[in-house]
Amino acid sequence: MTNIVVIGGGAGGMELLGKISKKLGKRGKANITLVDISSHHIWKPLLHELAAGSLDEGLNAVDYRVQAAQNSYNFEQGALTGVDRENRNITLAAMKDQHGNEILPERHVDYDYLVIGIGAITNDFGIPGVREHCDFLDLTEQAMNIRQKILNRFLQHAKNPEQGHFDITIVGAGATGTEMAAEMHHVADTLSGYGYEIAEDLLRVNLIEAADRVMPGLKKECLYGAVDKQLRALGVNIMTNTSVTQVTPEGMYTKEGLFIKSDMMIWAAGVKGPDVLGTLGLEVNKMNQLMVYANCQTTTDERIFSFGDCAACPQPDGSFTPARGQTARQMALLVGDNLIRILKDKDAELKEYLYKDLGGFVNMSKFYTVGNMFSFIGGGIAIKGCPARFVYASLYRRHMLALHGPIKGLLLMGLNGMQSWLRPQLKLW
Ligand SMILES: Cc1cc2nc3c(=O)[nH]c(=O)nc-3n(C[C@H](O)[C@H](O)[C@H](O)COP(=O)(O)OP(=O)(O)OC[C@H]3O[C@@H](n4cnc5c(N)ncnc54)[C@H](O)[C@@H]3O)c2cc1C
Repeated sequence: MTNIVVIGGGAGGMELLGKISKKLGKRGKANITLVDISSHHIWKPLLHELAAGSLDEGLNAVDYRVQAAQNSYNFEQGALTGVDRENRNITLAAMKDQHGNEILPERHVDYDYLVIGIGAITNDFGIPGVREHCDFLDLTEQAMNIRQKILNRFLQHAKNPEQGHFDITIVGAGATGTEMAAEMHHVADTLSGYGYEIAEDLLRVNLIEAADRVMPGLKKECLYGAVDKQLRALGVNIMTNTSVTQVTPEGMYTKEGLFIKSDMMIWAAGVKGPDVLGTLGLEVNKMNQLMVYANCQTTTDERIFSFGDCAACPQPDGSFTPARGQTARQMALLVGDNLIRILKDKDAELKEYLYKDLGGFVNMSKFYTVGNMFSFIGGGIAIKGCPARFVYASLYRRHMLALHGPIKGLLLMGLNGMQSWLRPQLKLW
């Protein structure tokens, strides 16, 4: 039987698996294996909520092993370290526990068709000190680490007023940075209600952006203007036209000659392909993304496909696909279609991917949501407030339905709704 190996069970990977497991796995037409570095999936666009404690991983994480068993595919946990194209197998690094003890040795997994969707990592642009002193929001574990740090800081500062302010600096005023800045105020507000003694001016959030405005990805002034206004109303210190040149344990220096003292620093200033991609012998671009043709086959090997944040797919206007959740979903589903075609007829004509910008949303925690819908039609429709929040929430609901099917998906949504009413607004551990 044909072996299909999908590496990366993220926003796109899980949608792809949903499709091919139904059409190929359950019908006995292919043996499908998911490989992921992690044991469970959490939808990446919600990582800032996990970091702030607004999202409960217990209810929202999907265990890959269980998901695989219920959907006719296999799961192998491990980090991709190599691809042997001649013998058609991949290498996974040895798996170790938190003390460095080996659980599983280095392993190989055979493939006939390989799909790489391992997402992106935060780009530090080689700026000294960023890797060592900043926190990143690439993985679930990093988000949970940030949550613990935030809670510890609030506790320290609240119990010991001599500690002064809690200065947090977030670099990058795209969706991740702006949403995280708003979440910080949500955490401070909520903790005050849980007995933490938090002075009104304790939290100071700096949001740094090299461009001349927040949300450079939003085209409409009424939208990025609304984000700017809401963040300023919360007290966020927005510093645009500001570039960081060095980070130290105490804060960061800017090109403009400022030193921004910080107790905690979160780096959210752009993404690039994970380092391993540059070592696989496949063509990559300057951002370390795999180069693919419009049909998502890598330019180096037609048996290897790629999608999402880790792939650069050319578009008819000469641009390349943006690293966004909707791109990952659309490309992954197209890869699924193409694999189904190939398995029917290995010479079949493959579909080509055309990016369709359905819009984008910025959810500033409980405070405000803005967004643009159907951006592919004449610039789209701007929406704000409750309607925007509803559409934003429905994007995650759609992902849950894709993962769990209609019955289980709806039940889980109901459970999530109940838990937001029954349980504390923030997870404190
Ligand atoms: C806080 C935050 C907010 C965001 N908000 C939005 C938003 O509002 N709208 C939007 O469009 N996009 C948003 N994004 C971006 C969006 O999350 C990504 O574009 C999307 O998740 C990309 O999907 P993907 O499938 O390519 O990769 P991912 O979803 O990142 O999945 C990659 C998977 O690969 C696994 N993996 C990584 N390395 C390896 C390895 N070496 N071996 C094996 N497995 C590996 C990971 O564990 C993960 O499961 C946001 C991102 C963040 C961090």
